[in-house]
Amino acid sequence: MSFFIPDELQGIREKTALGQRIDEADALRLLECGDLNALGQLADEANRRKNNNRASYILNRYFNYSNYCILSCQFCAFSRKKRDADGFELAIPDMVQKAREALSIGITELHIVGGLHPSLPFSHYTEMIRELKAVDERLQLKCFTAIEILHLAWLAKKPVPEVLAEFKSLGLDSLTGGGAEIFRKEVRDRIARGKETAEEYLDVHRAWHTLGGRSTCTMLFGHLETLGDRVDHMRQLRELQDETGGFTGFIPLPYQPDNNEIPVEHSPTGFDMLRTLAVARLYLDNFDHITAYWVGMGMKLAQVALNYGADDVHGTILEEKIFHMAGADTPQLQTETDMIQAIREAGRVPVQRDTFYEPVREWSGEEAMAKA
Ligand code: SF4
Repeated sequence: MSFFIPDELQGIREKTALGQRIDEADALRLLECGDLNALGQLADEANRRKNNNRASYILNRYFNYSNYCILSCQFCAFSRKKRDADGFELAIPDMVQKAREALSIGITELHIVGGLHPSLPFSHYTEMIRELKAVDERLQLKCFTAIEILHLAWLAKKPVPEVLAEFKSLGLDSLTGGGAEIFRKEVRDRIARGKETAEEYLDVHRAWHTLGGRSTCTMLFGHLETLGDRVDHMRQLRELQDETGGFTGFIPLPYQPDNNEIPVEHSPTGFDMLRTLAVARLYLDNFDHITAYWVGMGMKLAQVALNYGADDVHGTILEEKIFHMAGADTPQLQTETDMIQAIREAGRVPVQRDTFYEPVREWSGEEAMAKA
């Protein structure tokens, strides 16, 4: 499908087609442009130049080791204090059991984050990574947000690079990208006061990349931020990616409005989600992969997003808590069959990927039809 590209976007189209970088003013103009189909077409062209007609998914399993947290970010519906009846923490043997079960059904990645627990010692986390890796070294461990790493470094009384190196030696494969929220301080203070600054978030990922590690990164959008704040956020990610090349992908996260203190009633509209993904594809020219996160946007819209710049629909997940406690009404899991069908219907070749977005299996047309 191709759409008429208005004059105001032709210059940006020429730049991206020539492999030239668009700047922040271009990105803002694109976000403000009301012609979603034209924007989507530019993003789709850019995506196809990088990823051809492939779109990926991963067989992964989420779990949270605990929701106890010493912070109280205003937007967070997940964290609990020790006095709360619905607080929880998983013992390491229970995590190992979940890992074994995941492995038995073909899961390749465990995605594990938690709150900043008030009393668990640093040794608990090193034992957790060691024990989980011992289940099977092929099971890729994608764990901890930047704020958790800062908390763990504080517990260990060691510099962040030293703590990261220790976790890497124990088998940590990737950091998660969570916790970036919005970098602009004025907004960050209103949604996540007390959390790490933008500089601290970027420094943790920089240190991890310097050790040879890879990670994803995120942006929480659709709350109190302006469109300019989204551009500013992506600018800082693009700059770090220029420096390290360590980000595997970018995952914009649509804000969920329930059970928190932020005075916003609705999650972003479908229009807003698609334009944000499209602009991310065009502006983040040094990122190979842009993920349509079905947990926040629903699988139907994630499928549509494959024609608006996204090339990945994330994974099976199995047990998501953070978005669902904030009101997401999406299912708790996707089956591989559903993801393959969604990707194939969108006219793409489904590719099962690993944590690093490396292909595990590419489904030909006939195979995908049979699977779906
Ligand atoms: S967002 Fe993370 S750090 Fe903030 S309160 Fe929730 S669990 Fe704690």
